[in-house]
Amino acid sequence: MKKMIKAVSLACAMLFTGGVGVAHADATNPKIGFSIDDLRLERWARDRDYFTAAAQKLGAKVYVQSADASEQRQIAQIENLISRGVDVLVIVPYNATVLNNAIREAKKAKIKVVSYDRLILNADVDAYVSFDNKAVGELQAQSLVNLKPKGNYYLLGGAPTDNNAKILREGQMKVLQPLVDKGDIKIVGKQWVKDWSASEAMAIVENVLTASGNKIDAVVASNDGTAGGAIQALSAQKLAGKVVVSGQDADLAAVRRVIAGTQTMTVYKPLRALASNAANVAVQLVRNQKPGYNAQMHNGFKNVDSLLLKPVLLNKSNVDLLVKDGFYTQSQLAGK
Ligand code: BGC
Repeated sequence: MKKMIKAVSLACAMLFTGGVGVAHADATNPKIGFSIDDLRLERWARDRDYFTAAAQKLGAKVYVQSADASEQRQIAQIENLISRGVDVLVIVPYNATVLNNAIREAKKAKIKVVSYDRLILNADVDAYVSFDNKAVGELQAQSLVNLKPKGNYYLLGGAPTDNNAKILREGQMKVLQPLVDKGDIKIVGKQWVKDWSASEAMAIVENVLTASGNKIDAVVASNDGTAGGAIQALSAQKLAGKVVVSGQDADLAAVRRVIAGTQTMTVYKPLRALASNAANVAVQLVRNQKPGYNAQMHNGFKNVDSLLLKPVLLNKSNVDLLVKDGFYTQSQLAGK
């Protein structure tokens, strides 16, 4: 028995020092490859900064790459991170469905894979860290329904390449479907917005307004970028502030619109918590410790261990929370 314990603890020690037989994992100073869809967007730059700071505190070194909304570039960058010998990959996928080969390569090289914010589909990922996106969708629809319990609703979805877009829609429909069934709400149209593009969202809403003779009461926009596009189209018809519009991310421009009354709500997702939880999970996986999860999400390949954080509804009445939380300063919100 004693011998066995000794053998096991020796094996553990080898594991932790990256000893014989155990890939190259360096448990003391893990190397993390952080592959981000698009750093040009406000929120992802925050994610990068919070993540890097949290990972460094844990003794890790982070290599960041931005694919700038190109699936080819993202695949090439992931391959590059694998050949640099990272211990774990943390990935915000641009296209959820095209990374399985790259991830197979990573797994062959004994590299752990964490899906960050967006779930990677049909691939052997080790963990998923995000917000409860279904709850985000519910908050969006519920906020609009509270103000417009009856009327014509337009559904402006997120990017069709992003699994979150579909989960958000599920949450939105959970709230809207009973009212549609009752005949109170009519869904007059819906469309996914390629790459979550604000200008595309604007063009879509322009067309919808023209086609319907401005007979729209609510636009269920899935994030702040697309909400911004929708509100620009509404402004041109003098409908901004009259048509209720949802969002998410608490982007600075969106929070200012919420204060001005042209956007009904946004969803605040404390990104520091997301980033530090993800950094923790990544480092724990390298150290062969078991991270704490609170959900499982099926990605078409397996049930992925998941940690889903709680989103916060934000409207005119509680924007101060952002200042309290250090997300913005008072003068930023005031536009100074
Ligand atoms: C994220 C949102 C973000 C959107 C566009 C989604 O996957 O959850 O926070 O607004 O991507 O970048």
